[in-house]
Amino acid sequence: MKLTFWGAARQVTGSMYLLELEDDYRILIDCGFDMDRERGKEDDLPQAFPGSVFPFDASTINLVLLTHAHIDHSGNIPNLYREGYEGQVLCTSPTIDLTHLLLTDSAMLHRRKLHNLAKKKKKSQMPPPNVVNEWYIEKQVDAAMDNFVGIAFQQRFQIKKGLYVTFIPAGHLLGAANILIEVVQNGKYRSILFSGDIGRYNYPLLPDPANVPQVDYLICESTYGGRYHTPNLEVEAELEKAIIETCIEKPGRLIIPSFSVGRTQSLLYTFNKLAIQQRLPPIKVFSDSPMALQSTKIYSRYSKMLNEDARQFIETHDTLFDFDNLVIVEDLKNSKAISNYREPCIIISSSGMLEGGRIQHHIRHNLSNPYCTILMIGYSAENTLGRQLLDGISSLRIGDQQIPVLAKVKYTDAFSGHGDQNDLINFVKQQAPERLKQLFLVHGELESMEAFHAILKAEGYLNVAMPEKGQTFVLD
Ligand SMILES: [Zn+2]
Repeated sequence: MKLTFWGAARQVTGSMYLLELEDDYRILIDCGFDMDRERGKEDDLPQAFPGSVFPFDASTINLVLLTHAHIDHSGNIPNLYREGYEGQVLCTSPTIDLTHLLLTDSAMLHRRKLHNLAKKKKKSQMPPPNVVNEWYIEKQVDAAMDNFVGIAFQQRFQIKKGLYVTFIPAGHLLGAANILIEVVQNGKYRSILFSGDIGRYNYPLLPDPANVPQVDYLICESTYGGRYHTPNLEVEAELEKAIIETCIEKPGRLIIPSFSVGRTQSLLYTFNKLAIQQRLPPIKVFSDSPMALQSTKIYSRYSKMLNEDARQFIETHDTLFDFDNLVIVEDLKNSKAISNYREPCIIISSSGMLEGGRIQHHIRHNLSNPYCTILMIGYSAENTLGRQLLDGISSLRIGDQQIPVLAKVKYTDAFSGHGDQNDLINFVKQQAPERLKQLFLVHGELESMEAFHAILKAEGYLNVAMPEKGQTFVLD
């Protein structure tokens, strides 16, 4: 059996791994969008299939397994179908709904880019063809979604004789899984665990990551392999502190850039808890993202799959996300009208890295306002506007405007959806080092991986690889 690392190899995005069994049955685990390529990083792979998005023939894949909905894990699935894949995508039911939402959003973005591209005349303004090839539109998303099949957590599901998959709850995002693959071929049993993204313990709404069994091969994410979250941070206390400092003491407006899917629901739930405990001052909280509204509906629909705390909360209060003073902003006109609202308030809007979406006009209007605080709550990739703000830049270029930064910029990791180095080590430590044939680190920048690698070595995990893109390993 062979495993090839076609993405998230020494980088965070583009998760895609190809597992080829002895009988040539081919399974693709995740099929994510490579944001590094999108941002112009050179792709140095030989183009075996000119014009193709993939370095392999999509029509030869037999099955796709999807760990969770995030676009860096799911974003290229429509392209797989465009290029001839005819099989199914197996994932949990919430992952189907969230993936549909995220892929449709990507398709709308692609449509806009294609429209702009048609207007460009100069060759120098064109993005490279490998980037343009990745742009799909809504009807291609719908065609792909017809082939998604939902399977339950913790059920050992037989794909065919000698091939079983089990989806194990990973925390991180509603429906997110670690995927266990068990193969019996030529009388030999082998187990391989793909981590997906590993969530945190005691995270708002989500169940803790479940325990995983001993396996022969482990493929482990390492986003925060080199970092610790601030210990003992309580999300409610963190949020309350920011609200009091900004909206009561100054008083001004608090802007929270937030991913619409997952992160915003955790925030709204935390606001709701503060409201119930009468710790939320009587100010308006604007939730300004159409996609967040859709995602909130999906979280409500699957409330039985949320953690014990959330299930009890809904039993007592009948709602997870709805509280007095919450204003759901649906259309763009009302979104823009928020800048005319003069009272202290809270604005939650996307995108989390400030790279697009309605957050941009809120930032544009408030960046030079010393009475405003921008609270960053998530990871911002290099070269994004979010990262520049976090790095303390004194003026920010948004579109054709250069805006001085007079607002206060703060960061909290209380809402981060990824486990830190401790969580990752504890995840790996469920494996006895002498029984683990090999451990592969993926989904991390090289620096994080190396830090994680060093700790793993000290813990007795000696056979650890950090595969390069396109590297193949024989799993015997
Ligand atoms: Zn993720």
